[in-house]
Parts: sequence; C-alpha cells; structure tokens
Amino acid sequence: MNFTALIEQQKLYFNTGATKDISLKKALLKKLKQEILHQEEAILKAIHQDFKKSYFESYATEIGIVITEINLFIKKLDSWSKPKVVMPSLLNFPSWSRIYNDPYGSVLIISPWNYPFQLAFSPLIGAIAAGNTVVLKPSELTPNTSAIIKIIIDNVFSANHVTVVEGGIEKAQELLAKRWDYIFFTGSVPVGKIIYQAAAQYLTPVTLELGGKSPCIIDESANIPLGAKRLVWGKFLNGGQTCIAPDYILIHYTKLEEFTQQLKVQINKAYGENPEESEDFPRIINQKNFDRLSKMIANQKIIIGGHVNPETLYIAPTVLENPPLNSEVMQDEIFGPILPIITFKNLNDINKVLLHFEKPLSFYVFSNNIKTAREFIKNYSFGGGVINDTLVHFANHRLPFGGVGHSGIGGYHGKNSYLTFSHQKGVTRRFNWLDIPTRYAPYTGKLKQVKQLFKYFS
Ligand code: NAD
Repeated sequence: MNFTALIEQQKLYFNTGATKDISLKKALLKKLKQEILHQEEAILKAIHQDFKKSYFESYATEIGIVITEINLFIKKLDSWSKPKVVMPSLLNFPSWSRIYNDPYGSVLIISPWNYPFQLAFSPLIGAIAAGNTVVLKPSELTPNTSAIIKIIIDNVFSANHVTVVEGGIEKAQELLAKRWDYIFFTGSVPVGKIIYQAAAQYLTPVTLELGGKSPCIIDESANIPLGAKRLVWGKFLNGGQTCIAPDYILIHYTKLEEFTQQLKVQINKAYGENPEESEDFPRIINQKNFDRLSKMIANQKIIIGGHVNPETLYIAPTVLENPPLNSEVMQDEIFGPILPIITFKNLNDINKVLLHFEKPLSFYVFSNNIKTAREFIKNYSFGGGVINDTLVHFANHRLPFGGVGHSGIGGYHGKNSYLTFSHQKGVTRRFNWLDIPTRYAPYTGKLKQVKQLFKYFS
C-alpha cells in the first residue's frame, strides 16, 4: 500500500467537509454497531484463536465495551458537537465567547494486542465522532483479530475515511515517518518513546496510553476475603495481560497469611484445581513473553502456582512472597499471571517501594478506613485508580482514562475521547455598538485608567 497516496486521499476527503457532517457520523456509528453485532461470533472466535481468551471475557472486556461506547456517542454526539458558550471576559466588554470543537484531520491509531478489539475500536470511535479520518494499525501479535477488524472497517467506511493497515513494526515505522495531525498510541513505554520522537518531527500532538507497575495496597482494616476475590479477578483476567492489572501487592504484614489463604481459595474457585484445564484462563501471547515471565519466577519464593507449560505457553496463576526489589519481577511491568506480594509495617516501607517506580497507570487501595484510603489516593501520583476493587474505573466513561509521567500522556473514554480528538478553538465575538478607547495608543495619561480597568473587570 502506498501510504503517501492513502494519506493524500484521506486529506482530500477531509477537506470536502464530509467527515464533519453530524448526521453522516451518526449513521456510520450505527452502521459500525450493526456490523460488530453481525460479526460477533467471528470476533469472539478470532480472539480465542489468538490467545485462548474465553468468549465471556471477550464479550465483557472487548465487544460489550465497544458497543456501549458507540451507543453513548450516538446519544450524545449532537450535544457534544454544539459550540460551548462560556462567560465572556469583562475586559472585552461587550462580547461573547464560544468554544468550537474542531477535528484535527488525519489521525493515526496504533493499538496493542492485549485487548486487541477494544483498544483498536475505542479510540477509533472518538476519532471518527470528532470528525477525523483514521488510519488504524492493530497489533501483529493478534493476526486473527486484526483480520476481522479490517473486514469490519472495510464494510462500514470508505478507505478515504478509515483504513486498516495490518502488519508489524516495519509497517508502524513506515506510517510514523509520515505527517499526521494526531497520533493515538496504546502500548509499551519503550515504544511510546519512539512514537513521541516520531511525532515531534512534525509537532504532531499525541495521546500515549502506556503501562507501568500498578501497585495495590492492602491495609490492616481491609476486607480480606472480598479483596482477594476481586484481586484474583483483576489480576488474572486476560491471563494477567492487562495494562491496569494490579502488578504487585503491598500488604500489612499481619494480613499476609489470611490473604494468601484467601487467594488460594479464590484462584481455585475461579479456575479449578488445575487452571491449565480451565476454559476461562488465557495463554501467554507469544514465546518471547512466555520466556520473559518464566524467568521472573525462577529462584523466587512461590507460594501459589508456579507451573509452566512451554508447549501451550501456559503459566499458572502464580503468587510470590517478598521478592527482592532488585529481582527481575520487580524491575518492569509484569504483564502476566504473576503476583508478587510484599509485606510492610509502616508508611516508610510503602514509600520505599512506591517511590522506587515511575508513576503508575493505576493504583489500588483495599481498606475499610475511608480516611486512610483517601490519604493514599491524594498522596501519590498515578493515572487512575480504585478503592476496594480493581480495574472497574475503566468502565465509567465519565472518568478520563490515561496515565501520567511514564504511564502515558492524555486520556480518553466517552466525552473525553471526543475532546481528545478535537482541537478546542476559543473564539470571541466583539460587538460594534461600543468601543472603549483605553487600549488604543497614544497611551499618555492612560496608565491609571488601564490599572483601574484590570482591577474592576478581571
Ligand atoms: P507494544 O508497544 O510492543 O506494541 C504496540 C503497538 O506498537 C503494536 O501495534 C506494534 O506493532 C507497535 N510497535 C511495536 N514496536 C514498535 C516500534 N519499534 N515502532 C513502531 N511501532 C511499534 O505493546 P504490546 O506488547 O502490544 O502491549 C503491551 C503494552 O501495552 C504493555 O506495556 C501495556 O501496559 C500497554 N498497554 C497500555 C494500555 C493503556 O490503555 N494504557 C492498554 C493496553 C496495553
């Protein structure tokens, strides 16, 4: 595919103004929804083929989320598209002010493999709804899902509006060398840096949805049985390959035994005696990640799980006790079904661990003391978080979703997606029936007057 020609075609189409037409955008969103529903079985099958993710998880974390987002946009697009009237500044009296949402133009979306359907479509919905053209490059590690994504897009959009480019790093780099009006990237921190550098060449604005080591603090007051149940769900969903999965636990030392006991109970309840036989437990995406994760548990104190099968890329839900901070598992984001537990006695111990890492994408606190929980939330910097559960902040479209520092730049979901893919143009309209003369030269003798104006009208 000739990318220069493709981008040129999309620009020409954008310049016709068609992508900004609200009724066309709503019609396309409706068509997209119908097409996804029509292809539901094929999508579920494709994701299962890619990494043995269960149909339930794929519906709940991929198709269901995308359909909900489309419904929201269809319902809200009219009101979000209206220019927003804001209070004028009295210094400009008489005037009014409005904010117009303007699409950037040509958007490049590069998505990862771990929620291969949802993380491609969620940003795409925002980009289209805001009136942009899109080139979407899904991950090469989930080829079956990428193929069905392409079929869906080709059936709904013309190529000069949205095009899917399948392929790996080379294709991504070829695309990145072109000039875009906006780049939306979801993936790892090292690749995020490559994207940022490529964008800098043309001063292209970016959203970077990255990863990191998301901590989970459990204090003495926490409800351990319910906490363990919710943590097993949040950690082992998608085989632990979730950007916002709790990466490691920091638990008050008095609660370690009860918590470990409850984790065993809950893992057993969710995936049975042998999770390898469970239909609900996904596999590791590829050999490279399998090897990386297998190395992490070698020479550690394994208190639950530990079984690996290189032939099927299976790694059991595995829990480690107090791995040293300089061990491999505590270096980078784990991104697999391995849960290190570190005990603490006081805030100093917690800080020693938390402040050792870059700002995380997510942050979890389990505590029955809401004051303590809120202190944690206030005192640390992170992308988003939850008190007494895991992951669920992701499902509220009213919350901006994104990282901070090394875990990302920008946020999206719901109206935030619409705003992410729009430039907010601030416009002031002046009236002609009054023209206060103070601002005009010559300024002689006007300093006092201008000071008074600022004093009274600002
Ligand atoms: P990745 O960074 O390896 O790949 C993501 C995308 O970038 C893929 O489409 C890939 O083809 C492309 N890519 C890879 N290397 C590239 C390069 N050198 N130049 C240009 N493009 C390149 O990430 P992944 O393994 O697919 O996903 C896992 C990572 O993504 C984890 O770190 C996870 O935390 C993060 N993630 C973040 C979010 C979020 O919303 N913040 C969501 C899911 C995953």
